[in-house]
Amino acid sequence: MAEEQKTKAKTKIKLKAPAKAGETIAGKLSAQQLQQEQEKKAVEKEKPSAIGIPSPAEKPREEEQESIPITPEEKKLAPAVATDSLGEKMAEGRKAKEKAKGKYSYREELLKQKEHEKFFLEREKQKKKEEVTTQQVSSVPAKIKITEFIQVGELARKLNVKVGDVIARLMKMGVMATINQSIDADTATLLAAEYGAQVEVISLYEETIIQEEPDNPANLVMRPPVVTVMGHVDHGKTKLLDALRETDIAATEAGGITQHIGAYQVTRPKGKITFLDTPGHEAFSAMRARGAQVTDIVVLVVAADDGVMPQTIEAIQHAKDAQVPIIVAINKIDKPEANPERVKQELTKYGLIPEEWGGDTVFVEVSALKRINLDKLEDAILTQAEIMELKADPKKLCVGTVIEAKLDQGRGPVATILVRGGTLRVGDPFVVGLEGGKVRAIFNDRGQSIKEAPPSTPVEILGLSGVPNAGDAFYSMRSEREAREIMEKRQELYRQQMAQKIKKASLENLDQLIEEGKLKELKLIIKADVRGSAEALQSSLEKLSTAEIRVRVILASTGEIVESDVNLASAANAMIIGFNTRANAKVRELASKEGVEIRLYNIIYEAIEEIKAAISGMLAPEITEEVLGEAEVRQTFRISGVGTVAGCMIKSGLVRRGCCVRVIRDGVIIFTGRLKSLKRFQEDVAEVKEGYECGLAIENYNDIKVNDILEFFEQKVVARASSSGVAMAEPT
Ligand code: GDP
Ligand code: MG
Repeated sequence: MAEEQKTKAKTKIKLKAPAKAGETIAGKLSAQQLQQEQEKKAVEKEKPSAIGIPSPAEKPREEEQESIPITPEEKKLAPAVATDSLGEKMAEGRKAKEKAKGKYSYREELLKQKEHEKFFLEREKQKKKEEVTTQQVSSVPAKIKITEFIQVGELARKLNVKVGDVIARLMKMGVMATINQSIDADTATLLAAEYGAQVEVISLYEETIIQEEPDNPANLVMRPPVVTVMGHVDHGKTKLLDALRETDIAATEAGGITQHIGAYQVTRPKGKITFLDTPGHEAFSAMRARGAQVTDIVVLVVAADDGVMPQTIEAIQHAKDAQVPIIVAINKIDKPEANPERVKQELTKYGLIPEEWGGDTVFVEVSALKRINLDKLEDAILTQAEIMELKADPKKLCVGTVIEAKLDQGRGPVATILVRGGTLRVGDPFVVGLEGGKVRAIFNDRGQSIKEAPPSTPVEILGLSGVPNAGDAFYSMRSEREAREIMEKRQELYRQQMAQKIKKASLENLDQLIEEGKLKELKLIIKADVRGSAEALQSSLEKLSTAEIRVRVILASTGEIVESDVNLASAANAMIIGFNTRANAKVRELASKEGVEIRLYNIIYEAIEEIKAAISGMLAPEITEEVLGEAEVRQTFRISGVGTVAGCMIKSGLVRRGCCVRVIRDGVIIFTGRLKSLKRFQEDVAEVKEGYECGLAIENYNDIKVNDILEFFEQKVVARASSSGVAMAEPT
């Protein structure tokens, strides 16, 4: 791989950015995970610096606080920035300390802190209790309803109490949560009990369930059978489906051109038959796995010249498992070496016995190529359907199943729906999977716009909010409001489930390994135009996992990149890969706010190459540090638009433009970052040597003070190329 490409990817692929990029040595290391940076930072701070300065982590916190005093004037001068960076600095120092000490002592410290707090709490307890009780009696409702998870802010609102109070009480319960974070129903119940309120947990899941309207027996009419063609590879499934499609008398009459929408319907003198266009038992069982059993009859294709083969047997098992009747089509009887009798013989072993031999399986000898006996096969299907008495109520609200769905460049999300009950009409509000909308247009399998579709009709619909999954159930709703409400609840539930999933995964020892630096994980969210690409990308990217870095796709789906994807990415510290899809301005804005990286591709290979490069960047890179020199701050100026400029004297070595800098005050490193500018007498210069004066500014840092020592250094990051799997170097 070209070195240049590697560097490009490295700088581009930035995982969740630290709150202030400049506080880390961000420029060169942006390809690495935040976590890694933090670890490194912690290590750096522990190391005694080149000039013999003790690390801040070794100092007690009180001193740390004292060492960076802020006078009221200073506060006035640099209000937000100064306090912000100071606060963050301290928080970081603490973090580093905690990290260095390990989890055990962190807990110990927490306990100590708690004891300290307890003292004050005890003292205030009585008073507070009285306060709360009086408050409560008047305002806290006796009973509240919540779902499995509830945001802290929402809970406070429901309880009619102050959010701050809720957060404080949660803290006492050992739950650290901010206003926007969700807590589970158990915690919420305990908390509500403290306020004297009872909680009724209503299941969000239950609220997302849509009850199918029952059939009215008086309205039942026969419906066409839905047929799936299965069989061994090359036995002629595709050929047969194509041949059957052309037997459609309606198509020839109307002169329509058939469209491939995942299913089609043929009209025969004796009735209609709907064929699912995706042959093979994988598709069949994939749909079943999603709870969508749409097939009424399986046509098992067996080539007369080849006989029963492994996939023939598998197909039989799948059909039997689903309790779907099988009609055997012995294909390729036009071939001279065809031996239909042998096929029948072989199939008896699997319980498929021809009627003429006393069994109940219908066998039809056909040739898809020469179009022999196709009508006989169709007759057999229709007879079987008649026996099965396939009926539906066309008058109820429509229910259906997604056969296929994609994001169409020009038309937006498009789904092929097989109507199972009721009648689908243009204008119907609906819910399908996590999506919903109002049916804007209906097209049949010949691409003709139609107004309504009765049971067993495969149709393509427009008007979806997003791309659903194959197998998702479709429901027409009575009102748009109802559809929207359920859709929103489903999305909320989905988000919660995803969040739970992530939390769970983080408890596994895998993450322990990651934490210990033995394994790193690159989490990805994939959004693609069609399912096929999403799945292809997922498997290719996951294959890039090495001994050190695991690539994990936490979500792969179709459609535009939406806000919920960004929220998920933010929560999981994942990166979003878009393939042949887009993210609108609002979503991009949210992503940059949340520090979520979105990468868009239209060539799979390109996506793989870049991720590969990112991985080699993530392999704990070898960092060599070269100290350039040291300076003392003599004067500081505040220049509007620039920030604080420090007038310095170079005491040793030199300073170079754009180099890294550590700010050392009273022997403590209080900031590490990068030079923003370097000047001598208003002139930008590349370098200033020992014994000279210069003016400089530091990126994202304005809190420079007279007498601060600045240490300049440069880093070389050597990314290691990743080899898949074996022979990985030991992580540093
Ligand atoms: P699939 O893998 O089951 O979908 O099989 P295809 O429909 O792709 O067919 C495999 C091969 O068999 C193709 O070359 C077809 O032209 C051929 N084929 C299919 N049906 C017949 C048939 O009835 N007679 C003959 N001679 N060849 C056929
Ligand atoms: Mg095929």
